[in-house]
Amino acid sequence: MNKKMEQLGKAPSKIREIFEYGNKRRAEIGAENVFDYSLGNPNVPVPDVVKKTYSELLAAKDDVYLHGYTSAQGAPATRQAIADDLNAKYGTSFRADNFYITCGAAASLRIIFGALITPYEKAEVITFTPYFPEYRVFVQSAGAALVESQSDPDTFQIDFADLESRFTPNTKAVLINSPNNPSGVVFREESIIRLAALLSEKEKEYGHTIYLITDEPYRELVYDDTVTVPFVTKYYKDAIVCYSFSKSLSMPGERIGYILIPDEAAEAPDLYAAVCGAGRALGYVCAPSLAQHVIERCVGAVSDLQYYKKNRDLLYNALTEYGYTCVHPDGAFYLFMKALEPDASAFCEKAKEYELLLVPADSFGTPGYVRLAYCVTTELIERSLPAFKKLAESYR
Ligand code: PLP
Repeated sequence: MNKKMEQLGKAPSKIREIFEYGNKRRAEIGAENVFDYSLGNPNVPVPDVVKKTYSELLAAKDDVYLHGYTSAQGAPATRQAIADDLNAKYGTSFRADNFYITCGAAASLRIIFGALITPYEKAEVITFTPYFPEYRVFVQSAGAALVESQSDPDTFQIDFADLESRFTPNTKAVLINSPNNPSGVVFREESIIRLAALLSEKEKEYGHTIYLITDEPYRELVYDDTVTVPFVTKYYKDAIVCYSFSKSLSMPGERIGYILIPDEAAEAPDLYAAVCGAGRALGYVCAPSLAQHVIERCVGAVSDLQYYKKNRDLLYNALTEYGYTCVHPDGAFYLFMKALEPDASAFCEKAKEYELLLVPADSFGTPGYVRLAYCVTTELIERSLPAFKKLAESYR
């Protein structure tokens, strides 16, 4: 068998490991006594319009339409609805044919790397710390190397001096994720403008295209009027968007998202064909049809984000008051906190003594930090605060 795949299958996911530990503790001491901040599973209800649409569609009893194959790249009506929604929001002029519907952002990313990378050509993809650990899996399995650019350690925004030092003639793409998992940081417009200028410069220097891939499962999850998520295709011509409805509609299990290849991107028609080819080669054709029909009717809807805002404010304010150093999360539903000792895994073990389940951020490329997924009930956060206080006191 393929030894790399075997290793990947056997490698424990830290997040899953902690979640399983949580299940064990819940059985032992009761769910209300375990403060599990491990998993990024949205806990806000699916919007009513989505539930209603599922019910109405299922009542229509047109089984071939509902459950049959769509086009490999997704139903034209769904792709057009997504195009219309983005055009209304961002003043763009996308068409259905700019989109490939996928089983979520994970599939979008793996397909785009499959489309762009020829194995063994030594391609490199740069991303910024901290980053979603699966990036390494997606990039490496497509045959490229993932290159880490260290973000500014105070703000977790792009450190442009560091970024510049990471480019080589093999740089194929730069991958960003804003709002970010795990830091909650949103890249500001000035950063995107500067990034676009640097990428254009590097394209000229190396004489080939460098695509900017933007992984956006949290695009709508921002909580303050002062914070906006720039729509990257407006700033850089060779931008590719990998989107997911997993978080905005609280339906990660339905597996639905898309890849957007704008007409302006270099070699757009061939790139779109390569996306279709990679989707075909990976077996990622015809994303779940029922979810596609729902998206056609509900694109633009979002879950109740005020709930996450309330959780963010409660947790951030309390933890900083207890003396923890946290990155202020502008978006997503994660809080990134400095461990109270250099070894984040040891800190997480200590936290377990207070039934606090936190994830060490070593696999996110930023040792010494932990991630808290605050997509949990507000009551759980309230009940967990004394435990955080005791944990901080134990280090004094
Ligand atoms: N990218 C990031 C940054 C994520 O946090 C996640 C999931 O948590 C994904 C991609 C995968 O999302 P999906 O469920 O849409 O495959």
